Amino acid sequence: MKPLYQIRKPTSGAHPPKYYSYTGLTQIENCPRRWWLLHAKYDALAGPYPEPVSSGAMRGSIVHVALERFSVEWSRSAMTTQPGGIKTFRRQFPIREIVRETRRRLLGNARGNPRAQMATLEANVSVDGCISLFKDLVRRSYGEPAFESAVATGQFEDRIEERLAGTSTELIGERAKKEVPCPAVLPEVTLKVEDPRMHGKIDLIATTEDGDSLVEYKTGEPKPEHEKQSRLYAFLWWAVTGRVVRERQLLYPNQTPVKLGAMTQAELEKEGVRLRARIAWANGEVKSALPIVRFDAERCRSCTVRQLCDEYWTAKETAASRWTRDDAGRMRPGAGNPEWRDLEIELQQTEQLAEGFIVRGKPKGGAQIVCKIPPQFRASSTDSFKNVRLLNVGLVANGEGTRLVWSSASEAFWG
Ligand code: SF4
Repeated sequence: MKPLYQIRKPTSGAHPPKYYSYTGLTQIENCPRRWWLLHAKYDALAGPYPEPVSSGAMRGSIVHVALERFSVEWSRSAMTTQPGGIKTFRRQFPIREIVRETRRRLLGNARGNPRAQMATLEANVSVDGCISLFKDLVRRSYGEPAFESAVATGQFEDRIEERLAGTSTELIGERAKKEVPCPAVLPEVTLKVEDPRMHGKIDLIATTEDGDSLVEYKTGEPKPEHEKQSRLYAFLWWAVTGRVVRERQLLYPNQTPVKLGAMTQAELEKEGVRLRARIAWANGEVKSALPIVRFDAERCRSCTVRQLCDEYWTAKETAASRWTRDDAGRMRPGAGNPEWRDLEIELQQTEQLAEGFIVRGKPKGGAQIVCKIPPQFRASSTDSFKNVRLLNVGLVANGEGTRLVWSSASEAFWG
């Protein structure tokens, strides 16, 4: 059994990030403990605590890499000045080759992660699926009237972040203005500010004399936090360049672009004040000896470190995600497909089997559970541990008792 499958306390706690990203800050706010557990140090593990890789996240990464290549190469292309040049460029762009290569690289990285479900990733992250997402997003962004004026002038810049990087805005009111080409279309702009200490990468910015449009590509479903992220990016753009944001767009595959409108200077200033307060709170939590838990049924259900979060296993807010010993007694034969939940078992009343163990029933006829565990998750002796936390397992009736069933997403952690 790999050291990962042993439940351990961190050797040392996590440190706050030097610069917060939108995602990092939101993750800390959602549950400081989760972020801390994921970023703490574990001497028994070679690197960071590994998380399972989702097919959706891998698809999103592949499409973002392809969009970045497309934007940068288009900005360097001589076709930007030709009428209809974008169509010709789109046809010539080697999208299949780029998607294949990125998919191969990301699958290769995932192979080093013991929690990655390789068969599921290989089946669910298809080259054709990624290409179709890419084409849809390119059609929506580069066919968008918001960019027509900039496209028509042929004013394109790539890698503007190299000129904007290292920008320091000590105070929002005293920010230094940067020279930004206008009108222009700027792909993949990385921005960083010192107060509050934040950074972010905007997928595409179209600058015009009347104000700028910020565009974010999204490969998943719309979520309320996308609007919040766009507010933060508008703030970063304004804090670094002093330029007004006239439009914020979110582009989703197979949907009309979501237009979130302008942000006034007063709104941007308020955003800055809010961000400072949020970062101060996040810093305080991350630096504490044991950051607080924030339960949310759905989030805890998919939390990738819930095996390390003692509170999860007893909280009423998470009860629907967990099996109990009483559930085991209620299973009836032929009950259909199993449900997948988590189960914690105290090992004192278990009997070891070659392939796992049997949990003995309670004295008055409680159900026994036969737990067969796949070899990679199996402890050499159940006597060495007090409990085992099983993630995403099913229970099915099995004659007099109940049998544990396993899926490709199931895992066992021993404590
Ligand atoms: S299980 Fe829930 S409360 Fe515990 S760390 Fe994860 S998200 Fe936070």
